[in-house]
Amino acid sequence: MLPDCIFCKIIAGQVDGKILYHDQEVTAFLDAHPVTPVHILIVPNKHIESLNQLDERDAALIGKMSLIARQIAREQGVEKSGYRLVINTGADAGQSVFHLHMHLIAGQRLGLRPI
Ligand code: AMP
Ligand code: ZN
Repeated sequence: MLPDCIFCKIIAGQVDGKILYHDQEVTAFLDAHPVTPVHILIVPNKHIESLNQLDERDAALIGKMSLIARQIAREQGVEKSGYRLVINTGADAGQSVFHLHMHLIAGQRLGLRPI
């Protein structure tokens, strides 16, 4: 855990977050500033800054994040209507929180507008 990281604090239960899923490796919670009717963040519990810091040994972890995203999409009722998974990496992509996270956005027709 990185003490100054907001997502580490949410995972540790030190700050409020609407948690939808939590196990030993992965947590999912509502985005505080949703851009679509469904906007959920799926994160690894261990602090990894971004996709650039993902290790080969974390291949199963990011695979698991995708499967949990799919499960949440199903629970949110958007599995069939459609959803998008986004991982912003670095400044040009607009990454603002440097704890790896996968956005799950859905609930409306999505254009190519980036989040
Ligand atoms: P990104 O711009 O890809 O780094 O995404 C960071 C996301 O984290 C944004 O969509 C923010 O709305 C969201 N966010 C920031 N702080 C919090 C928080 N305390 N709880 C939930 N979501 C947050
Ligand atoms: Zn963190």
